[in-house]
Amino acid sequence: MHQKPDPDAMGSSLALAGMLTQLGHEVTVISPTNWPDFLKWMPGAKKVIDFEASKEKANAALETADWVFCLDFNALNRTRNMAGPLSALHCVKILIDHHEQPETASFDYGISLTAKSSTSEMVYDFMKGSGHEQLINEDIAACLYAGIIGDTGSFRFPATSAGVHEMVADLKRRGLNHTLIHENLYDNFLEDRLRFIGHILLHRMEVFYEYNAALIAIPKSDLVKFNIRTGDTEGIVNYPLTIRGIRLSGLVIDRDEERKWSFRSKGDFDVNTFARRYFNGGGHYNASGGRTTDKLQTTVQLFKNAIKENASQLQ
Ligand code: 5GP
Ligand code: MN
Repeated sequence: MHQKPDPDAMGSSLALAGMLTQLGHEVTVISPTNWPDFLKWMPGAKKVIDFEASKEKANAALETADWVFCLDFNALNRTRNMAGPLSALHCVKILIDHHEQPETASFDYGISLTAKSSTSEMVYDFMKGSGHEQLINEDIAACLYAGIIGDTGSFRFPATSAGVHEMVADLKRRGLNHTLIHENLYDNFLEDRLRFIGHILLHRMEVFYEYNAALIAIPKSDLVKFNIRTGDTEGIVNYPLTIRGIRLSGLVIDRDEERKWSFRSKGDFDVNTFARRYFNGGGHYNASGGRTTDKLQTTVQLFKNAIKENASQLQ
């Protein structure tokens, strides 16, 4: 799965692992980095290896693997420090992913379907298509559902097809408790995080009505002041899009090693291209991310210049 996994990366990986384990395979799930607390309830999450924290254990599993499934990322650099070890492996690498422009040369086999809502939907399709749908138990259903609601914004983004709703109906029949999963994912934060959101919406958000765009830039001092941890900033990039007329939202966080960008758009503004062009990133048409080693103020200025350059598409 990709670094700093979200519900789709973790959910699709644990669901696939659940199926393969039932089929008698020995399966190890590895995350390139740590993951947010709101993913810790997921069935199987306790056994996931954090590559950065347990390199030896992770490398031992990689080196003895016959197959490595790569889920919810399109390029090895999305696995941060795992990219080197992964590219050195000679075993069979299989990609299952829905991000734009996959680096196909890095994988031996794969499915890349960019119209799919989520990698979790693709893993569900794979289970059905391979004739193993009877293995989709309550635990697997929970993982897949978490991935679906994470990546569809709880069924609102355009990739939420009829097939997604049909899949969820099927998961319900297999014992899915959807209310519990929404609570586990979204009602599971500390007070600090809510105070932090109040603070940044008041003090760190700039709105550029002439470009239908908005920006939130979060300095390191805010992260320290509110004890912000992995996962606490998830979803904040969506808030500016709730302002009438705003079609592009950018969020940049000053992390120690880099400035991490998230982009979200509505309608026909392509943030995959935008992130690739200006911020060494990529992702999907309406949701993408990027990174830079520039200082916060420098990269913020780059965003302001970029929206000017894209004025005609934004207006
Ligand atoms: P988020 O803003 O939630 O971190 O990421 C939004 C989407 O863009 C996700 O699907 C994520 O996988 C993708 N993404 C985020 N950062 C990067 C990046 O630096 N490079 C690429 N290629 N995709 C990214
Ligand atoms: Mn995904």
